[in-house]
Amino acid sequence: MLVDGFGRELTGIRVSLTDRCNFDCVYCHNEGLGDTRGPMDPQDDEMTTDEVVRILEVAAEFGVDAVKFTGGEPMLRGDLEEIIDRTPSTMEISMTTNGTFLPGRAEALVDAGLERVNVSQDSMDPEAFAEITKAGAYDRVLEGIDAALDAGLDPVKLNMVVFDQTAPYIPEMVERVGKEKGLQLQLIEYMPELTGHHEWAIDIDRVHGWLEERAERIEVREMHGRKRYWINGGMVEIVDPVENPSFCANCHRVRVTPEGELKGCLNRTDDYVSMDPMTKPAIRAAFQEVVANRVPFYGEYMIRNGDGEWELNEKYLQTPTTAD
Ligand code: SAM
Repeated sequence: MLVDGFGRELTGIRVSLTDRCNFDCVYCHNEGLGDTRGPMDPQDDEMTTDEVVRILEVAAEFGVDAVKFTGGEPMLRGDLEEIIDRTPSTMEISMTTNGTFLPGRAEALVDAGLERVNVSQDSMDPEAFAEITKAGAYDRVLEGIDAALDAGLDPVKLNMVVFDQTAPYIPEMVERVGKEKGLQLQLIEYMPELTGHHEWAIDIDRVHGWLEERAERIEVREMHGRKRYWINGGMVEIVDPVENPSFCANCHRVRVTPEGELKGCLNRTDDYVSMDPMTKPAIRAAFQEVVANRVPFYGEYMIRNGDGEWELNEKYLQTPTTAD
């Protein structure tokens, strides 16, 4: 097991399989990797199936027991079933998707070994949905959610990024997961760190308060101290990482870019480590280097100055990586 200098054990890995996407969500941080590219043919620089599997085998050697496939849109990879099928059996396998390719394919993914899925649904209003995602596939996403449920993925978590354009739809989404068996709602605080538009952010404590007033039961999860609210039988969870040191103190994952670099923090752009030439020794060395350099973003990489504003800790003005 790899442990960083802050006592955080590495237990999870988030693999961005492509940065191609058929949506162009206005808020998207693309896993910290800059703009997504439109749907197009597979890129030469994307990791091959074998490379993804090799990285996961090394992760499993180090005791990592959960992988999440993401992107871009991970379902644009035609080899997703094969990747899932070849993922070490010690790992729990999940995926975050926009849902549009689940109809007709969800069952094959489950057969390959997919255990959990998050589907992004930011609104229940088709027009607002089109405005946010720059795509007109609202009905297709609903079909995708149904396909995931039919394939036996239970629960299906609906990811909703909370910002000023989506906040009006929170009550309807809460009602939706209360009514429909198998669905849960994950409200994700809008993260402006890489995307800018700080003015879109809304006060997440108000959302907590709104849910608290209506909840019949509240549970605090060990993971990130996340709160779960049970409302009319439905489960709603809030993910609130922004300016939240306790969230970062409980972060146990590293990330893989579509080109095969490893990084330790979503919000940092200075911590990429190449895994070239993608041999197991090179991959192991990259894991060790990334974990050794991992620090909590809020509370260590960013610290509060005398005015209470977050600023870069000067220790990290120049972080050495193999890329330097
Ligand atoms: N295409 C897939 C999808 O639509 O879910 C996977 C990629 S998407 C980058 C993964 C997750 O990141 C989505 O659930 C989305 O809600 C979340 N996300 C993207 N940008 C965000 C931001 N600026 N703040 C908070 N969450 C964000």
